[in-house]
Amino acid sequence: MARLPAVFFGHGSPTIALETNDTTAAWRRIGVEAGKPKAILCVSAHWLTRGVGVTAMARPRTIHDFGRGLGEALFKVQYPAPGDPALAARVKALLAPEVDVVLDQDQWGLDHGCWSVLSKAFPDADVPIVQLSMDATKPPAWHYAMGRKLAPLRDEGVLVVGSGNVVHNLGVMDWPGRWAQPYDWAVRFNDYIRDAVAADEPQKVVDYASQGQDAVMSVPDPDHFWPLLYVLGTRAPGEAARFEPDHFEHKSLSMMSIVLGAHENGASKAA
Ligand code: ZN
Repeated sequence: MARLPAVFFGHGSPTIALETNDTTAAWRRIGVEAGKPKAILCVSAHWLTRGVGVTAMARPRTIHDFGRGLGEALFKVQYPAPGDPALAARVKALLAPEVDVVLDQDQWGLDHGCWSVLSKAFPDADVPIVQLSMDATKPPAWHYAMGRKLAPLRDEGVLVVGSGNVVHNLGVMDWPGRWAQPYDWAVRFNDYIRDAVAADEPQKVVDYASQGQDAVMSVPDPDHFWPLLYVLGTRAPGEAARFEPDHFEHKSLSMMSIVLGAHENGASKAA
């Protein structure tokens, strides 16, 4: 079985699920490039737990985990992709014995970090999806180590997906200025991460706090950053990385997505 790519999606605002634009077109290209995976394992910024859980139900519900202020239409979105209890069990086995993964039957489902991007990448909702939670009490190196343990899945027909944002600061976002010039610190931090990934230097990503105030501003809470560590953990030596899309919205939201193991003909224009 051919090795599948691994993808970090910069997901942005949930309202993008209602849009068709250059970003959603790029997500769709990523989905087309992946073909039809046997299943998807998704690590979303929006499922933080104490300990680790994995969705193990056959029919995960679509979770609308955001405020009513975003409009009723968004609450009507359903992404009826099936679950994959066998993959959930496989994930539990891969992370044991260090982590005792809870097989979740009724607490979670598919949150918007997952369905906002996957409904664009795989609009037919016919690829089974399992979500993995992140233990909020653990440091970055631990999350990266989880990714390393999950790496074999990529050779088993599973598309490993992380969904978050490299730069995610809601407190200083420019809400009306979607295309406003991003903050200097945001650009510097995003460049640092892109360069580290391009050079295949994951330790620099794990040690993102070394960037001082740029990191403090770009990653005020780690939930949107950590999913990238899982994706990077699955990387094979010398595996290519592609950065697309690669832009900011609202001055403090990096929409950069990263595809590992991309085909040569999809090589990046980004430097
Ligand atoms: Zn989010």
